[in-house]
Amino acid sequence: MEKSKILFDKAKKVIPGGVNSPVRACISVKTDPIFIEKGEGPFIYSVDDQKYIDYVLSWGPLILGHLHPQVKQAVESALQKGTSFGAPCELEVELAELIIEALPSVEMVRMVNSGTEATMSALRLARGYTKRDKVIKFIGCYHGHADSFLASAGSGVATLSIPGTPGVPSDTVAHTLLAEYNDLDQVETLFKKHGDNIAAVLVEPVAGNMGTVLPQKGFLEGLRELTHKYGSLLIFDEVITGFRVSYGGAQKYFKIDPDLTCLGKIIGGGLPVGAYGGKKEIMEQVAPCGPIYQAGTLSGNPLAMSAGIATLTQLKKEDYASLEKNTQMLALKLKEILEKKGLPVQVNQIASMFTLFFTENPVINFKSAQKSNQEIFISFYQQMRAGGIYLAPSAFETTFNSFAHTQNEWEFTLKVAEDLKF
Ligand SMILES: *Cc1c(COP(=O)(O)O)cnc(C)c1O
Repeated sequence: MEKSKILFDKAKKVIPGGVNSPVRACISVKTDPIFIEKGEGPFIYSVDDQKYIDYVLSWGPLILGHLHPQVKQAVESALQKGTSFGAPCELEVELAELIIEALPSVEMVRMVNSGTEATMSALRLARGYTKRDKVIKFIGCYHGHADSFLASAGSGVATLSIPGTPGVPSDTVAHTLLAEYNDLDQVETLFKKHGDNIAAVLVEPVAGNMGTVLPQKGFLEGLRELTHKYGSLLIFDEVITGFRVSYGGAQKYFKIDPDLTCLGKIIGGGLPVGAYGGKKEIMEQVAPCGPIYQAGTLSGNPLAMSAGIATLTQLKKEDYASLEKNTQMLALKLKEILEKKGLPVQVNQIASMFTLFFTENPVINFKSAQKSNQEIFISFYQQMRAGGIYLAPSAFETTFNSFAHTQNEWEFTLKVAEDLKF
């Protein structure tokens, strides 16, 4: 029997569903997860010695691939000096400076340990700063698993078709107002009705958790205008897009100036990190400068900081334009190959992220993403995996490319796609 299967059976006895994050269980693609032994560059290896080209990359963080030599060395050398101090260390300052230098709107930044903590803390700050309670989020966007954001969320919530989540008090989500992604009219209507009590609009500037969905022309600009007009804050959740869509994130790519920005994934280089930052005037409301409390025992720990610093330092030298071009080529060729097999295919792509949707119509929001044919996706996923291509086990996730992937991996991926049968 396969080792993955044995481990999964064991895991299910001691961990709910056998996994520490729901989508990993591979339920929606009707198979079992692969247990990973190790990663190297663009590859992962299973405990059963199978080699895969990895397009999940730990759900986005590993834009340099697994175990990049610089990142590995930085973590190893930090490790020699201790793993956590719960006191300031030089590395935190260095990572903060790198982030501020890269992101046009960020003047001060606070480190946390995950993207969930980043969005949760940014919302608390927005509420405290504006003295308002409500937040607008978009259907199908995912901002981590804090109570306020588990209304019509993307990612695993979408994958498992969970409408809301038991355990979240209804008066908590009552402060969460929902709009369809790319629909400014709905946002304006919400502002007209609740404008004087809306603390913030929280948005993924490129949605990555209902699959990749791009902001239409004018959408982000419109959110900036409406939030200004009604005195609310615009929060960009750049946990995926930060240092991915460009080195300066989506805000640089689209030239929008949000008030607050949430980060995670890439800035930790594969270790657990998140951060939130923004205008100095707002960030100075965070304790101990200001009255809004937020803290963390392991925040800013030297291992995570060193991985982040090494990752960003290396990314400064990488050619984002060429990775974007190669990703576009890969995505378009996959579309062409699958269309020749008679499948309906839409592809949404920007920089090194893309999603194939099996539907006739353009995907611009969650409603249109949901039209993607699940049966085709399941078959596509299972056959690609059998051929050595490791994709996210959900139709509502993003495929990530990396600077570690080369023409060899992309060509192999296309060859596997050529052989699929539907
Ligand atoms: C992954 C993600 C989060 C949550 O980050 P965690 O580190 O998993 O808590 C928040 N927002 C977006 C856009 C994400 O993709």
